[in-house]
Amino acid sequence: MMDKKLSEEHKRKIGLALKGRKKLPFSEEHIRHLRESHLGKKLSKEVCRKISLRMMGNKIGLGNKNRVGKHISDEQKEKIRFTHTGNTYRRGSHHTEETKRKMSIANLGRIGSEKQKAVMRARTGEKVWNWKGDKVSYRSLHKWVERQLGKPRCCEDCGDKSLSHRQYHWANISGLYKRVITDWRRLCVRCHKTYDKQQKLLKLNQEFDSSNNFNNSLG
Ligand SMILES: [Zn+2]
Repeated sequence: MMDKKLSEEHKRKIGLALKGRKKLPFSEEHIRHLRESHLGKKLSKEVCRKISLRMMGNKIGLGNKNRVGKHISDEQKEKIRFTHTGNTYRRGSHHTEETKRKMSIANLGRIGSEKQKAVMRARTGEKVWNWKGDKVSYRSLHKWVERQLGKPRCCEDCGDKSLSHRQYHWANISGLYKRVITDWRRLCVRCHKTYDKQQKLLKLNQEFDSSNNFNNSLG
C-alpha cells in the first residue's frame, strides 16, 4: 500500500491524532476482505478469553465499552436498587424551606388515617410525643389536668355549652404542655382546632421572621 515505512514515533502521533474520532462504516468490499483475511485462523486462548469476557452479561444500557465485562460493586448495586424501588416520583429532589412551610400550613389540623399514623410512627421512631392520642405522656398530662380542674363542659372561647362532653377539650395555651394549671383552658373541638392552627402559624411565622432577621444581619 505504501512505499515508505512509517516510524514508530510517526505511528504513535497518528494514533493520538485519530483518537476519539468516529470510524466510518466499512464498505461491503472491505467487510469481505476482512472476513477472508481472518477465515480459517485460530484464535489464541488469551484472545478467546478476552472475547468471552466482552460478550458476557447484560450490556443493555452500557454505552461505555470500557465497562463491558466489568462488575458492579455491592455498594453501587445497592444505590441502583434504591433508585428503582418503591415510588420514585421526585426521588432525590428536595422541597425548598418556603415550600415546606406552605405544605405544613396547608396540612394543619388534618388528622391522618390509622395507616398514616402507623407510617409516621415508624418514620419518627416515637420521637414526636405530642401526636394526638398516641403518646402516654400526652394522655397522662390530660388526665392530670382533668384531676386538677375536672372535665370541661363548656368552651371558654365561643361560650358553647350545648355539645356533648366528649366535644370539649382541655387545650394547652403555651403549647409547651407544662404541668401548670394556668396553662390550660376549656375549648370545644372547633375552637381547639382553630386555636392550635393559629398557634402553629404564629410559631412558623416567628421562626420564619427570626431566620430572615438572621440572614439580614449576616448580609
Ligand atoms: Zn368553642
